[in-house]
Amino acid sequence: MTATDLALHAGAHAPLGTSPYPLSPSNPGPVEGFQPSVDGLHDLPADLQPIRDKVLRGERLDLDDGRALFATPDLNGLGALANYVNECRNGNRTTFTYNRHLNYTNKCAYRCMFCAFRRDGDEHDAVVMDMDFIRHKLRTEFTDTMKEVHVVGGINVDLPYSYYLDLLRTIKDERPNLHVKGFTMIELDQIAEQAGRPIEEVLEELKAAGLDSCPGGGAEVLSKRVHKKLYNGKLPPEQWLSTVRKAHAAGLRTNATMLFGHIETTDERLDHMLQIRAVQDETGGFMQYIPLVFHPDNTPLQRLGKTTGTDALRTIAVGRLMLDNMPHVKAYWVMLGIKIAQIALHYGADDIDGTVVEEHITHDAGATTPQGLATTQIAGLIAETGRQAVLRDTLYQDLSVI
Ligand code: SF4
Repeated sequence: MTATDLALHAGAHAPLGTSPYPLSPSNPGPVEGFQPSVDGLHDLPADLQPIRDKVLRGERLDLDDGRALFATPDLNGLGALANYVNECRNGNRTTFTYNRHLNYTNKCAYRCMFCAFRRDGDEHDAVVMDMDFIRHKLRTEFTDTMKEVHVVGGINVDLPYSYYLDLLRTIKDERPNLHVKGFTMIELDQIAEQAGRPIEEVLEELKAAGLDSCPGGGAEVLSKRVHKKLYNGKLPPEQWLSTVRKAHAAGLRTNATMLFGHIETTDERLDHMLQIRAVQDETGGFMQYIPLVFHPDNTPLQRLGKTTGTDALRTIAVGRLMLDNMPHVKAYWVMLGIKIAQIALHYGADDIDGTVVEEHITHDAGATTPQGLATTQIAGLIAETGRQAVLRDTLYQDLSVI
């Protein structure tokens, strides 16, 4: 089938190579001269052809389409379809950021079964960073050109509300230009609990103290069944969704993650994606979808082992296709491993996260990736895949080609 045949076959659709779905300021489409690849779309197997035609017509995929995408034996065909959608949105660009993580405490009241990061307060390696320590870190380990600090921690019920305000003010005092992406929805709920006030008011005060956006963690898999079995006690799915809506209403952009590769079913993965998609329809507040591979080492779920590279690629590609309203899909190299993250850039992902530098959550669970990568290393890894490396800020407003 030629490109023209393909276009005719699909029926009414956006011209081939232009985005079948709405673009956004951070998804401006390809730069002039770059033509999204339709090569892999011509000879798709029968199970993928109706889905390809829906994609070309800009139609939304449903649960049954998602099931077919997860079930298809043609992983490369699935990847070609996701790659086409990504290239229509983002051209040949792959973004990353110059960031560093700050895990201010690992003390946690919860015992999520997939977590190797948490500590009880009396464990020898339990950490709570005080402001002097944080200030010292900011002076000695951060730079003026760094774009983002990613701030997350355990649910430490001993920390007063004032701690979080002081943390944000200390960061802005030492590094006023640093974008603070901080606190999962779980942490935000805990902070509001400590404040004893409605979360809407607390979000405004956190913003005034320096909070610029929020990460996407804590959703895990938005399933009551998985929640009950693996992280009962932590924010249930409906409350995670409620808190993220409030964060978006407060003007905070967030990400949305999905932790996969443990006990969740394919339908639970798809249901998670559909719930995220519905919130995005309402609020438009998500910047990125980030599929996170579960790392079992040192967790009570160690017996499960780690999911495969092909499952990771499939899940990334399905996410790109189902989440038609999500500007960006991330291949988080820390969890995927560098090689799978590179391949994922041709399976629908357009971002590879950042330099990270000091990562504890995944490495405590057995990740063998480096603790961090230099910007030149990340740019080189992206270039190896044939993509153009672009350094971004957290909100995708400042983009510079490397
Ligand atoms: S995942 Fe988060 S909330 Fe759950 S135990 Fe670990 S640190 Fe605590």
